Amino acid sequence: MYREAARPHRRCPRCARRLAWQTQGAFAYDLCDGCGGIFVDAATLAAMWQELARSNDEAPLPQPRARPAIYRLPCPACGGRMARVDVLGVPVDSCAADGLWFDPPELEIVLMAAKLPFHDWLRAFGARLRLMR
Ligand SMILES: [Zn+2]
Ligand SMILES: [Zn+2]
Repeated sequence: MYREAARPHRRCPRCARRLAWQTQGAFAYDLCDGCGGIFVDAATLAAMWQELARSNDEAPLPQPRARPAIYRLPCPACGGRMARVDVLGVPVDSCAADGLWFDPPELEIVLMAAKLPFHDWLRAFGARLRLMR
C-alpha cells in the first residue's frame, strides 16, 4: 500500500482524467470519476477476491490469461503499454509491474464470481461476457 502523499499522479488510460485514490475497507485503488474505470494492483485484487470468497468455496482468483491485443492502453502508473488479458473471460488490461485496469462493470463482474456458484455467475453474466469480446 502507498501513502497518498508519496504517490505521483496517475491518469485514466481511457479519458486522461486524474485518478482518485480510493480506500474501501481494507482495500485501496485508483478510480476514474469520469469513466468509472478502476486500476488495482494484483495483490489487492487477490485480497478483494479472498474477502468475497470466504463465504463461498474459497477457490482462488483465476490467473489472467493472455489474449490478442487490438490496442494497448497506457499503464496509469508507468505509462508502458498494458497487455490484454482475460480474467474469467472478462477482457482486462494489465501491466505486469503495476496492476490491472477494469472498465466498468468489469471488476464487479469478476468479483461476483468469487461470491456466486460458477453456474449462477455464468447464468447472470454469460450474455454480457459475450458482448465484451
Ligand atoms: Zn476515465
Ligand atoms: Zn505499469
